[in-house]
Amino acid sequence: DRLIAPQASEREEALDRAIRPRTLEEYVGQPTVRDQMSIFLQAARGRKEPLDHTLIFGPPGLGKTTLACIIANEMGVSLKTTSGPVLEKAGDIAALMTNLEPGDVLFIDEIHRLSPLVEEILYPAMEDFQLDIMIGEGPAARSIKLELPPFTLVGATTRAGLLTSPLRDRFGIVQRLEFYQVADLASIVTRSAAILGIGIDQHGAAEIARRARGTPRIANRLLRRVRDYAEVKADGHITAAVADRALDMLSVDHLGLDHQDRRLLLALIEKFDGGPVGVDSLAAAISEERGTIEDVLEPYLIQQGYMVRTSRGRMVTRSAYLHFGLPAVAAPGA
Ligand code: ADP
Repeated sequence: DRLIAPQASEREEALDRAIRPRTLEEYVGQPTVRDQMSIFLQAARGRKEPLDHTLIFGPPGLGKTTLACIIANEMGVSLKTTSGPVLEKAGDIAALMTNLEPGDVLFIDEIHRLSPLVEEILYPAMEDFQLDIMIGEGPAARSIKLELPPFTLVGATTRAGLLTSPLRDRFGIVQRLEFYQVADLASIVTRSAAILGIGIDQHGAAEIARRARGTPRIANRLLRRVRDYAEVKADGHITAAVADRALDMLSVDHLGLDHQDRRLLLALIEKFDGGPVGVDSLAAAISEERGTIEDVLEPYLIQQGYMVRTSRGRMVTRSAYLHFGLPAVAAPGA
C-alpha cells in the first residue's frame, strides 16, 4: 500500500471516475501525443472510419486508460475494456469481439500478457476483421470464419520490450507516454481540486506536483491525502506550507521518493558499492520481486537520473549519493 504506487486500487478507480478527463482538450500535458491523436481522430471521423489500431506504451498511472476512453468518446463509440491476463482462452476474446458494434473501441490493458493462443486470434481480427476459430475437438473439429464489425483495438502496455513483433506490427498508431512535467501535474492537481471542491492555491498545487513522480495518478492521490491533512490540521485550504507539512508527515520527500525508493538506492550504495549489480541480486537484497523493481521502482529513478541500467547491471549515479548527503566517490563510472 504505497502512497506513491502508480497503480490504482479498486476504490481509487471509483474515485477517479469523476476526475478522469473525457476529451482530448481536457487531457493535460503529453503535447506530442495530443497533437498527433487530434489529427488522427479528426481524419478518421472525416472518413467515417474507425481509428486505426492504437498501441499506448508507458509506465502505470500516466493516462493510458484515460486516453483509450478519450478515443472512444471522441469517436462517439462505446468502449469495451479487458486485460491481457483475463483473456485465457480463444473463446474469451471471440466472445468480446463478436459483441462489438461497428466502430467500437476494444481496450486491452496489459496487452503484453496475452496468451499466444489469444494473440493468434487477434492477428486476422485486427487485419481483416475476421475471426478464425476452431469449434469441436478431435476428428469433428473444424474451423469457422466469422466477419467482425470494423473496430479499433487499443492496447496498453507498461513494457514495450515484452510485446511480440507480429502483434506490435499490427498497430497503425503507436504512442509513448512520458512522465509529466511539474507544471502539467500542477494543472492536473488544480483541475481535480476544482472538480472535488478542494481549496488549493497555486503554490500548494506546485508542491504536490513536485512530489508526484511525474505521474497524474499519484498527483491525484497525494491531493486527497493532503486534503485530509488540511482539513484536520489547518483550515482546509491547501497552501505550499500545508502541502509540505502533509507530505513530510506521509514520508514522501521533496523529490517524491518514499522509503522504498530510498531503500533501493541505499542498497545499491551500501551493499553493492554503487553497482553495477544484476537486477536479481538487487531484488534479493531488498526482498522485492524483480518485476516490482523493473516496473514500479526503477523507471522513475532512472528517469530522474538517480540510477542507470547498464549492460553489466544497475548502478547509482552521483545524484543519488548527493541526495543522501554522501560523498560521491564509491562507484567507478557513476
Ligand atoms: P494508466 O492506464 O496509464 O495506468 P490512467 O489512465 O488510469 O493510467 O490514469 C490515472 C489517473 O490519472 C486517471 O484517473 C486520471 O484522472 C489521471 N490522468 C491521467 N492522465 C491524465 C492527463 N493527461 N490529464 C489529466 N489527468 C490525467
